[in-house]
Amino acid sequence: MAIDLHTHSSASDGTDSPSELIQRAGDLGLTAIALTDHDTLSGIEEARSAAADAGVRLIPGTELSVDHEGRKLHLLVYFLELGNGPLPERLAGLRAGRHERNSEMIAKLRRLGYDISAADVAAHAGGESVGRPHIADALVTKGVVSSRAEAFDGLLDDGGAAYVGRRRLTAAEAITLANASGAVTSVAHPYTIDANSKSYPALFEQLRDLGLSGLEVYYPEHSPDLREHLAALAAGLGLVATGGSDYHGSGKPGLDIGIGFGDLAVPDTVVAALEERRT
Ligand code: AMP
Ligand code: ZN
Ligand code: FE
Ligand code: FE
Repeated sequence: MAIDLHTHSSASDGTDSPSELIQRAGDLGLTAIALTDHDTLSGIEEARSAAADAGVRLIPGTELSVDHEGRKLHLLVYFLELGNGPLPERLAGLRAGRHERNSEMIAKLRRLGYDISAADVAAHAGGESVGRPHIADALVTKGVVSSRAEAFDGLLDDGGAAYVGRRRLTAAEAITLANASGAVTSVAHPYTIDANSKSYPALFEQLRDLGLSGLEVYYPEHSPDLREHLAALAAGLGLVATGGSDYHGSGKPGLDIGIGFGDLAVPDTVVAALEERRT
């Protein structure tokens, strides 16, 4: 029984609507899906009703970009419900930070000679959480680049010519807020934090001591060796080995829900292990 604990819909920067995403998961035989749109829970209600129809278990969640001691990392949050605890209310502030950052990036792009407006970007955003992938889509429509990936390369990516940072929670704040909201957290795609895995044990131990519950071991871009290494680390630290595809619909070509690039298989036992961590 396979599941997928990392997916994005059109409520943030995926291209499938929440119900299309759930239907696709059901058609592929997945038994549980976490919808983890960036900084928003606005796709959850639609996903929940589609999940009931498709016989898929929905785990409501989000993905947060956080700072931790000079590094940036992403945290997946699971079992996060509107009206339950302090974290859901903090998401609006994070989206406001996105809005300010997007305006600054558009201004920077215009100074670089790209004829792009806030309306061009808004035309590509399906929901309230707007980000760099939507700026990328607008640049594709303008014919400046041919794909999201090309727009990121040297332009929108961290340190790129049009890059502007945005307001973020610290890892300690995000983990504390999540735990106080009856949710649990897992470090998303650890390979993006550091290409050298030597720093992982000390980093993940620190985060565990802050209240982290899991580590995203099973991820499309993780090699078999890295998956094995991270699984051993998670076991040693008492963290749940989580996994997901980071599906974005056609926003990430060649990658499918559940299976990633074809070799992903996350066991459904992970859900119960995460549930046990809820406080
Ligand atoms: P933002 O949340 O606005 O800072 O944008 C970051 C998001 O852009 C990530 O969560 C990914 O979904 C996407 N992204 C990051 N790098 C790339 C890339 N090289 N190509 C395509 N999408 C990317
Ligand atoms: Zn994304
Ligand atoms: Fe991420
Ligand atoms: Fe993601």
